[in-house]
Amino acid sequence: MAIRRDRKSKFVRLFDKTPPGVLCPHFYELVLSNGCPYNCSYCYLKLTFRGNTEPTLFQNGWEKVKAELDGISHGVFSTGELADSLAVIPPLLPKALDYFTAQNNKSLLMVTKVPTLNSFVPTDRVPACWYHFQLTLSPGQGCTRPVLLIPRSV
Ligand code: SF4
Repeated sequence: MAIRRDRKSKFVRLFDKTPPGVLCPHFYELVLSNGCPYNCSYCYLKLTFRGNTEPTLFQNGWEKVKAELDGISHGVFSTGELADSLAVIPPLLPKALDYFTAQNNKSLLMVTKVPTLNSFVPTDRVPACWYHFQLTLSPGQGCTRPVLLIPRSV
């Protein structure tokens, strides 16, 4: 079950909350959805949105998202903050795939625990995107590892 509604806040924001001493580059969050249906016991989502992890899918028109993206010259844009990028497909994601496929200096990062890319994401889109898969080795035990990262130069 997922909630569908318009988003009132901005869709794009710079993630710059990396703690001192952690070598993690800044990136942009592209908020097409919130929440995740997987309910991993260790998930930080349990500490956000008052513990409500039910997916919320934003259904505004694409032009509002595009205007925010157009205002930024380059970078990596992640749909996997406070959400699993592909567990429930956000309605705005097809437009986002079209947008990033046409970009030279911007990339879409999707972070997910779905086991495989399904037919929703054609393989000819792969060069436009980074997919970061995580497999849960022991379900619910907090043991994860990234298994695939397909970069393109930005
Ligand atoms: S798959 Fe990721 S986002 Fe979803 S509940 Fe598990 S840790 Fe949280």
